Amino acid sequence: QSIAPYANEPLTDFQSEENRMAMEAAIARTKTILGASIPLRIGAEKIFTDLMTKSVNPGNLDEVVGYVSKADLEHAEQAMQAALFAFESWKKTPVVERASYLFRAARLMRERKHEFSALMVLEAGKNYAEADADAAEAIDFLEYYAREMIRLSQINETMPLVQIQGERNKFSYIPLGVGVVIPPWNFPLAICAGMTSAAVVAGNTVVLKPASPTPVIAYKFAKLMEEVGLPDGVINYLPGSGSEIGDYLVTHPKTRFISFTGSKEVGLRINKLAAEVAPGQIWMKRLIAEMGGKDGIVVDETADLDAAAQAIVTSAFGFQGQKCSAGSRALIVEDVYDEVVAKVTELTRRLAVGMPERNCPIGPVIDESSYRRILNYIEIGRGEGTLAVGGRIAGGNGYYIQPTVFVDVEGGARIMQEEIFGPILAIAKAKDWREAIRLYNDTEFGLTGSFFSTDVDRIEEAAETMHCGNLYMNRKCTGAFVGAHPFGGFNMSGTDSKAGGHDYLLLFTQAKAISFKT
Ligand code: GLU
Repeated sequence: QSIAPYANEPLTDFQSEENRMAMEAAIARTKTILGASIPLRIGAEKIFTDLMTKSVNPGNLDEVVGYVSKADLEHAEQAMQAALFAFESWKKTPVVERASYLFRAARLMRERKHEFSALMVLEAGKNYAEADADAAEAIDFLEYYAREMIRLSQINETMPLVQIQGERNKFSYIPLGVGVVIPPWNFPLAICAGMTSAAVVAGNTVVLKPASPTPVIAYKFAKLMEEVGLPDGVINYLPGSGSEIGDYLVTHPKTRFISFTGSKEVGLRINKLAAEVAPGQIWMKRLIAEMGGKDGIVVDETADLDAAAQAIVTSAFGFQGQKCSAGSRALIVEDVYDEVVAKVTELTRRLAVGMPERNCPIGPVIDESSYRRILNYIEIGRGEGTLAVGGRIAGGNGYYIQPTVFVDVEGGARIMQEEIFGPILAIAKAKDWREAIRLYNDTEFGLTGSFFSTDVDRIEEAAETMHCGNLYMNRKCTGAFVGAHPFGGFNMSGTDSKAGGHDYLLLFTQAKAISFKT
C-alpha cells in the first residue's frame, strides 16, 4: 500500500469560536480524570510503586495532575533487561511493520489531538496554541520518522553502491541496541514522542525516563504506543530521579546510546558519564544531545520594525521563554534602537499573565526551582541593564512571573550569556549591523537566530556569518517545523543532531556493508 507524501500537521486556529470551545471541552474532560495513579511500564508489566511523586499543575498548585510511580535501581535494571530481551526480536521486525506502529499512533493522536493538548495545558502550563503546536509536532515526528526509516531501508535502490565485477554489494542501516531516552519537559509530548519514535522505528528498544515535571503526558504517549500494539519491552516507561536511575542507566554497560534533550549542565554531565567504559561494556556509547541556547534576533535599520518587534516578543515570551530556541536576546542597531525598544516594550506590556486553561498568553513557569532561578536572574538583570517592563512576580496560584525586558545590556552581561529559560529578554544596542552580528555570535551556544533586514546583500552575509544551527531571515526564531527546519545547534547547544531532518535516524543506526562474491 502506498504512503502519502509527508505533510506537516496543520495548526488549530483558536480565533475560531468552535475550535476554542472544542479545546475548552477537552480541558474540562481532562480535569475529570486528573489525579490518577500512573504505573511504571517494564516489558508487559505495569508496576505501581509505594513511593509516588505528584505531578502538579504549575498554573494551579492545588491541582494534582497525577500520582506517578517512582522507579528505583532495581526497576532500572529490570527495565534494561526487558529492553534487551525485546531487542532480540524487535531488531528483526521488518521496517515497514515497525513504521506501521508510528503511522497508527499518528492517526490516533490526530483524532485525539485536543485531548493530548489539554493535558499539556494542565501539566506543563502551555496556552492553547503552544499545546496544539506541541501535539501537532508530535504527530509530525511520528509521520516523518516512519517515512524516513522506510526511505533508509531502500537505500540500495536509491543510492546504490558501486558494483564491482564479480561481486554484489549491499548496504543497510541496522539498529544499535538499547537506548536511554531522556526527553525534556518543555515539549513534553513532541520531543518525547520524537526522540522515542526515532529510536524505536530504527529498530532499537528504549528505556524512556520522562522529564520529572511532565510524566503524565509522557505516560499518555507510552500508553498510545501500547494501544497500537507495539510489542512489550520496546518502550519501557520509567519515571524516576535523574541522579539516581538516570545515572544508573547512562552508566550501564548494556546501554548502547543515550538520547538526551535538556540543559547544558545535565548534557555535559551525561557526556562525561557516557564516556566511561563500564566493566563488560564492548562499545563506545553514542550520545545524541540537544542542549541549551542563548538565541537572538538581530535588527538592522532597513528592517520592517513592526514585524521585528513582534518577532522579538513572540520568540522571547512564547511558552514563557521556556524553549531552547527562545529569543532571549535582541541586538539592535542604534539608528532604530529606541523605536524598536518602544515597540517591544509596548507589545510586552500588553501580554496578560494568567491561567493556561483560560488561554492567557503568558502562563506560569514550570516549577519552583525554575521560578527561583528566573527571579534571581531578574535581580542580576537589575544590575546589568535598565528594567523596561515587568520584573516582578505576577498574581495567581502558581509560578507566574511577568514578562520582563532589560534594555541597554552589554554583550558580556550574564543575562546576555547564560540561558535563563524563562520570560526574560535582554536587549543590546549595536553601532551597526555587523557589530550586531558580532554581538549575536558572542555566545557559547549556537542554536537559533533571526536576522531582520530588507537589504539582500546583508541577508546573504548574515546567512553566512551568524553561527547557529537554525537561522531564520525576517521571522521569529522559535517554531521549527518537522521536515522544513531540521532542528539542532552548534557548540554548547549540543551535538547538532538535526531532529526532524533527513540525517536524524542515522544517529540511531549503524551502517553495515556486505559484499557477496558472485
Ligand atoms: N523546536 C522548538 C522550536 O523550534 C524548540 C525545541 C526546544 O525548545 O527544545 O521552537
